[in-house]
Amino acid sequence: MRRPMVAGNWKMHGTCASVAELVQGLAKMAIPEGVDVAVFPTSLHIGLVLDHLKGRSILVGAQNCAHEAGQGALTGEVSPTQLQDAGCKLVLVGHSERRQIMGEGNEVLNRKFAAAQVVGLTPILCVGETLEQREAGKTLEVVGQQLDSIIEELGIDAFVNAVIAYEPVWAIGTGLTASPEQAQEVHAAIRAQLAKKNSEVAQGVRLLYGGSVKAANAVELFSMPDIDGGLIGGASLNADEFGAIIRAAGN
Ligand code: PEP
Repeated sequence: MRRPMVAGNWKMHGTCASVAELVQGLAKMAIPEGVDVAVFPTSLHIGLVLDHLKGRSILVGAQNCAHEAGQGALTGEVSPTQLQDAGCKLVLVGHSERRQIMGEGNEVLNRKFAAAQVVGLTPILCVGETLEQREAGKTLEVVGQQLDSIIEELGIDAFVNAVIAYEPVWAIGTGLTASPEQAQEVHAAIRAQLAKKNSEVAQGVRLLYGGSVKAANAVELFSMPDIDGGLIGGASLNADEFGAIIRAAGN
């Protein structure tokens, strides 16, 4: 039985004051039994968020990490070791904004994924197709290649301590959501691809859906058999809305 997870990606949002307010709202929330909740503030706000969430069962993660596990001469980067030392448990790897805007390709993402695991952080690997790719009928091929890159480089066991988020690029921040059936089709394909290498790993790995998830569509999405929760962007910036999505995962 996989534990559902709801993760909030705050992207490049927030000031010290607004983050403190958001996190105070989260700290008051009752988390349904059996649901893992995580938030991903900017690296600058990780300490502040951890302070406010002390004693609460909400995990904190980073939105990105360096491709080297340890410390060193790498201006502007934050290493997995430093994130782990600060109290992070998870890190996003390969969010489409980093793939597309920052130009991160599979090679560097494989290294980030591996570096995170070296220090015990759980990577959430984000995969997904653009609208053009979906319209060309290439969704499963594109997602399959993004996944294969990790499997070929690091082996199937890399997914024993990892989470995968399917995030169609056309649904991120656009208000367009994949239908539960569209999302389920891709999630089932991801699990089948992993199962070809190791069915136990495939059955155990959590697959989150991301792309304009809100309280209004979460129940339907989370009721699909291969959707184990969500990676939430915009809606995670509102404690009440995020709370409602978390409750949907607990149903
Ligand atoms: C995201 O950025 O991971 C995301 C899913 O964003 P949104 O929920 O705003 O579409």
